[in-house]
Amino acid sequence: MKQFIQRPLLAGALGLAFLTPAQAVTFVLNDVSTGGMSAQQLAGFQAAANFWSGKLTDNVTVYLDIGFNNLGQNILGSTSSNFVTTSYSNVRTALQLDATSSLDHTAVSHLQSGSALTFMATQGDGSSRLDNDGSVNNLYLGMTTANAKAMGFAVGTSTATPDASIVFANAYAGDFSYSRVGGTPGNKVDFITVAEHEIGHALGFTSGVDDIDYCMAPRSGSACGISNTASRFENDWWYEPLDLYRYSAPGVADVRVGGTPYFSVDGGITSIAAFSTGTEHGDGWQASHFGPNQVNLMRPFVGNGQSYDASSRDLAAMDAIGWDLAAPVPEPQTWAMLLAGLGLVGWMRRRSA
Ligand SMILES: [Zn+2]
Repeated sequence: MKQFIQRPLLAGALGLAFLTPAQAVTFVLNDVSTGGMSAQQLAGFQAAANFWSGKLTDNVTVYLDIGFNNLGQNILGSTSSNFVTTSYSNVRTALQLDATSSLDHTAVSHLQSGSALTFMATQGDGSSRLDNDGSVNNLYLGMTTANAKAMGFAVGTSTATPDASIVFANAYAGDFSYSRVGGTPGNKVDFITVAEHEIGHALGFTSGVDDIDYCMAPRSGSACGISNTASRFENDWWYEPLDLYRYSAPGVADVRVGGTPYFSVDGGITSIAAFSTGTEHGDGWQASHFGPNQVNLMRPFVGNGQSYDASSRDLAAMDAIGWDLAAPVPEPQTWAMLLAGLGLVGWMRRRSA
């Protein structure tokens, strides 16, 4: 078992006393592969961790078990995160206290008031309704421990109790390209993209909609350790911070499986990006992702020869769930204006043609 510590990117500047040390997320990586990852593999993962350290300024240490193992067919990588739960009210207060960017302020000003969330939700029997009954799933949220720490909650993770375990498929070890030098060959998968993506999940880019998708009928509720009733999702927490920004229309918070949900930080007025909607009863992709055909890191798949880093949309999601960005991303209104601007350019081109 090897262990190494990744230090903030700008640690080298610490020797210059007149400079304020830049803060960054620190990753402590613990290789739990049998026989250990190769130097190439470790360097690839380190590059992915460095990427996030360069984007996020929170004074947070994230402990990750990493390695190669046997995974299911067509699965390149998988992330299991530790979760903690607290009330929605506590999460809202934490996000308000943690708000730094203008996007943060837009996001928290559009969070639902009161202690209980109201949303369109899928029921245990597969039907859906406006869930405004103030039961446990309205009152409590779960979140990855890394996300909780970004919000300022005290969570005692360590190398022995890591925030997440990120496992890559043994079956694809030979199909990955571990360095971006010279580009990713057309018959290889960019390992750094996959590692950055899986770290994104560990940081909190997740959705309880996937759990609902898995545990709803026709699967027996008992398969998920819960009752078989239609109200099986009422008496525990299911949803996560990113789900606070899942909308299907202005004013319509929507955590249903399927449908056409999108990421919005202004109460559903502006769609920043579509979400995927569920492997079993949705569009075939895990709901913990943006849509499949977007140029975003948190899309649900990566093809051979493709390479992605977090886009402004991915970073906006991280910002909204409590991470602090080294460089702010545009506010949603700005995106709307950019789109309008692009439309205007098109119109002008048509006129001049
Ligand atoms: Zn994913």
